[in-house]
Amino acid sequence: MKAVVKKRPEPGAEITTVNEPKIHENEVLVRMKAASICGTDVHIWEWNEWARNRIKKIPLIFGHEFAGEVVEVGKDVTNVQKGDMVSAETHIADGTCYQCRTDRMHICRNMEILGVDRDGVFAEYVVLPERNAWKNDPNLDPAIASIQEPLGNAVQSILPKDHIEDITGKNVAVLGCGPIGLMAIAVLKTMGATRIIATAGGLNKTRMELAEKLGADLVLSAREGADLVKIIRDATDGNGVDVALEMSGSPSAVRQAFEMLTPGGRVSLLGLLDKPMELDLNNALIFKAATVYGISGRRMFQTWYQVKGLLSNPRFREKMASVITHRIPIRDIAKGIDLLQSKQAGKVVLEPKW
Ligand SMILES: [Zn+2]
Ligand SMILES: [Zn+2]
Repeated sequence: MKAVVKKRPEPGAEITTVNEPKIHENEVLVRMKAASICGTDVHIWEWNEWARNRIKKIPLIFGHEFAGEVVEVGKDVTNVQKGDMVSAETHIADGTCYQCRTDRMHICRNMEILGVDRDGVFAEYVVLPERNAWKNDPNLDPAIASIQEPLGNAVQSILPKDHIEDITGKNVAVLGCGPIGLMAIAVLKTMGATRIIATAGGLNKTRMELAEKLGADLVLSAREGADLVKIIRDATDGNGVDVALEMSGSPSAVRQAFEMLTPGGRVSLLGLLDKPMELDLNNALIFKAATVYGISGRRMFQTWYQVKGLLSNPRFREKMASVITHRIPIRDIAKGIDLLQSKQAGKVVLEPKW
């Protein structure tokens, strides 16, 4: 089969022919119908410091966000059938560690990640454990189905627990208008947030316009700098925001997220920082009695059910379609990586055209 393979520890990747993978008793074989490029894939392509330290398996077929059709099931598989349309929960848990056994499988101690620790989805066929195959509505556009994994990150940032305070009627800031930030805006709008304030790094017109289209009431450039927090306070009757979703990974945005927070509010931290940062915990967190959530993956599988519910709404599906700014043949993956590096794209979806 054809696959995009990281063959050597250096930038780039090769489209080449490899052996079709074989499944075990509890696995399914899926023919890829759409795959979307994640920031992680860009890092693996660039072979940056994170990738150099993180990737142990080379050659590696990377990519993890996808949708496809099940073409073969192992003999112990009971829940998934040939012909089912599926996407992948990309966190492959062992099911036996302390976290897994206490309802926190998404942060399994012995986690393997699809397309990072084992062969991923930028290929004609991919192997999934049955447990990680999420059955899609067969009528759902495979491109939209392929972005459920990062959409799940957005939903998990907004609803990190089962019994969290409601979003309806709240002022929410989304710091960072990358694909997950954009998806979060659409989720918040659908859930009835009162005011959604988005901030974008630099003056990224494509993403700022998309943020508005998806439902942000106010879109600000992070270049406002120190004034940003004041503008946001003024826009929320002087209160500040109830919820801040940090999705940029920029240290100044992390600080601003706490500064713009109303006392007793909460912050979800999703964006990954390049290096350790300083934060004034007294004022940012303790005196504010703020709640902070670290966001890693999606809850298995509560978040997926929430995503399914959102996607049953036609208007929301339309918004997700507009987050996908490019649909290109997988043979042009280099162009897709380029688009993401230049931040001129929302989601880039690859079609299985080799
Ligand atoms: Zn991803
Ligand atoms: Zn585990």
